Amino acid sequence: MIIVMSREATDEHIENVKRRLEKEGFSIHLSKGVARTVIGAIGDKTRIPLLALEAMPGVEKVVPILQPYKLASREFKDEPTIIKIRNVEIGGDTIHVIAGPCAVESREQLLETAHMVKEAGATLLRGGAFKPRTSPYSFQGLGEEGLKILAEAREETGLPIVTEVMDIESLPVVYEYTDVFQIGARNMQNFNLLRKVGETDKPVLLKRGPSATIEEWLLAAEYIMSSGNYQVILCERGIRTFEQFTRNTLDLSAVCAVKMLSHLPVIVDPSHGTGKWQLVSPMSRAAVAAGADGLIIEVHPNPSEALSDGPQSLTPDNFRDLMNELIQIAPVLGRKMAVDRE
Ligand code: PEP
Ligand code: MN
Repeated sequence: MIIVMSREATDEHIENVKRRLEKEGFSIHLSKGVARTVIGAIGDKTRIPLLALEAMPGVEKVVPILQPYKLASREFKDEPTIIKIRNVEIGGDTIHVIAGPCAVESREQLLETAHMVKEAGATLLRGGAFKPRTSPYSFQGLGEEGLKILAEAREETGLPIVTEVMDIESLPVVYEYTDVFQIGARNMQNFNLLRKVGETDKPVLLKRGPSATIEEWLLAAEYIMSSGNYQVILCERGIRTFEQFTRNTLDLSAVCAVKMLSHLPVIVDPSHGTGKWQLVSPMSRAAVAAGADGLIIEVHPNPSEALSDGPQSLTPDNFRDLMNELIQIAPVLGRKMAVDRE
């Protein structure tokens, strides 16, 4: 529930409400606005009658949160959350594009791609060092070596990096290098991993599970947030349906639905969402039109030789053309593309 304190509430009033709630086992999330303080309280609301809380000095009103996810809900926080990653802000008027290969394959491949995507206007660099592959015989990623290469690319280009953390064991090493933890679709309901990234101070890009409902996805975000880390970026990456032509079915309506239900930023991954490079640009344009706060796009200097996800990777030329289209589309929607060209 949310306890809205009155404008006249003193620090002592706020403290008393907090103490009362904590005594009943609630966890408290305080948000001090310019005009008034709002106390978010998560716990068993049968422990304390709403009317009793409302009668406490300094309390203006008590509003129950009806959704099963609380901290992630619009009811809890109405204004959009903006996530800061070095010099980048995701969730405001500006749309950001995260680009790079599916996997870090070599130093040359990654550095070349990093320079090219930056040149085209990407503002963050992606690349997997620990890869969740469907087959145990497929390339599994370079591990820490891949993270070092990503860090070198960041050094050279200034682009913050986004890379996947697959398990709790590799979390400390990924933490050492990354700017944003990517939680892959297959791990969306790995609740222990969600809790652990929730205990860190780095932003988390949370992919939607291949068969997760929007509610389950937001509850996954809630795991991270309830562990103390509010910096969650949601990522729609397609869900599994009966359709076979595309790798997944990209649910662009989820972007709008999440915007209604949550204050968290939401970005779209048209690469995994479709599995086909020919569909990546049209779906990117549609994602921006649908109100996405950003895109994450796989780009490879030579897709036919990629060790993973070549068929869905854009060439640097195609990526540049797409960026030029998005730069024109965004203003029509009252937004602008962040472009950090060299
Ligand atoms: C990826 O980003 O390369 C990836 C494996 O994505 P997902 O978890 O969405 O399948
Ligand atoms: Mn991939």
